[in-house]
Formats: sequence, structure tokens, C-alpha cells
Amino acid sequence: RFITLEGTEGVGKSTNLRFIESVLQQHQIRYQLTREPGGTPLAEQVRELLLANRDEDVADDAELLLVFAARAQHLEQVIRPTLAEGRWVLCDRFTDATFAYQGGGRGLSKVMIGQLETMVQRGLQPDLTILLDLPVDIGLARARQRGDLDRFENERMAFFEQVRDAYLERAAADPERFAVIDASGTLEQVQQQIAAVLERYLQE
Ligand code: C5P
Repeated sequence: RFITLEGTEGVGKSTNLRFIESVLQQHQIRYQLTREPGGTPLAEQVRELLLANRDEDVADDAELLLVFAARAQHLEQVIRPTLAEGRWVLCDRFTDATFAYQGGGRGLSKVMIGQLETMVQRGLQPDLTILLDLPVDIGLARARQRGDLDRFENERMAFFEQVRDAYLERAAADPERFAVIDASGTLEQVQQQIAAVLERYLQE
């Protein structure tokens, strides 16, 4: 099975990813942890290209195609082979992040993103997507507290509002696949919600 974790900045994605791993381990599930953009040496190089500070702006379409180029490689090298072996895949961000960041944030056509999704995934979708949802001001305040806001300083608040809205729109369109978690509570409250989702899912 294929599980993805999504959310905007400061929602607690890294901490909760470790928590999800601990639940899978308790159930003795054999899984591969991976991430996007990235997950293979080539795709990690694309990630570095995307996240690097540079003098040249990346054209929005170029960013979109790079994200999908990395994803095609990741699917071929890691995700499909792992699933074929019968192991689970736990992926930190996937195509919903593209709809959110490149679609919502950058304003690229979601129809076009959907076409690339069809081309690259050929019908493969995550079985479960856990979306950590938080009002943008709280998320950015948390990211600022841990000193992690430098790289977002030039992104407007409105950008992250659009990212969040696009995530919620994706979730509303596919409630079977998505579990939307209210990430505004304490870590314990958030993890209780995640544990409940996973326990239910593991019984299916
Ligand atoms: O998951 P993580 O926070 O490490 O991702 C790094 C950054 O990559 C994100 O903060 C986001 O701004 C960016 N990103 C993006 N488009 C994607 C996926 C990630 O702009 N499709």
C-alpha cells in the first residue's frame, strides 16, 4: 500500500512522519520511507536544483516539469518496485503537493497538472493521504520559531493561503483517499487523530 503525508510549512510534518513510522513498526509492516521532490539520487539532484538559491528565477512551467521529472524517476526506481515486492511506501509529499504549490501557490493550470499526473502515474494513486491542516499564520509562526523561515521570507502569506486552499480542495474532491488532520492542537492531540486514522486503515 501507498501512503503519503502532506501539509504546508510548520504543520509538524517531520515529527508526525516519525510518529507514523512508529505505528507502522508496531504493526510489523515492512515499508520504505521516501520523499518528494527526491527519493532517488537523480530526483534528489532535482530537489537541490529546485530549492537552491540562485540568481536566475525558475520559470513556473520549468518548476512544474522538474517536479514531474523527479517524480517519474522516483516512481520507476523506488515506488513501483517497492509496491511490487509487497512492501508499503510511505512518502513525504507527492502529487497533491504539486496541485497545492505549483497549482494553488503558483497559479498553474490544474488541468495541465492533471495531464502530467496521468502521464507519469498511469493510474497509480496513493491509497491513503494524511493531510496535516493548519491555518497559515499559525504554521508560519511555528516555522519562524524554529528559525526555519528564511527560505520563505520572500513568499507572501497569500501564497501559502493558496497552497492550503488547494490542498483542502484536493481533499474535498477525494474524501475516500484523504484523512484531513487538524494540526492546530497539541502534538499529543494531533498524534491521537493520526493513530485513529491508521488503526482504522490497518483494519481494512
Ligand atoms: O517537504 P519539505 O518541506 O522538505 O519540502 C521542501 C519545500 O519544497 C517545501 O517547503 C515547498 O516549498 C517546496 N515544494 C514545492 N513544490 C512541491 C513540493 C515541495 O515548491 N511540489
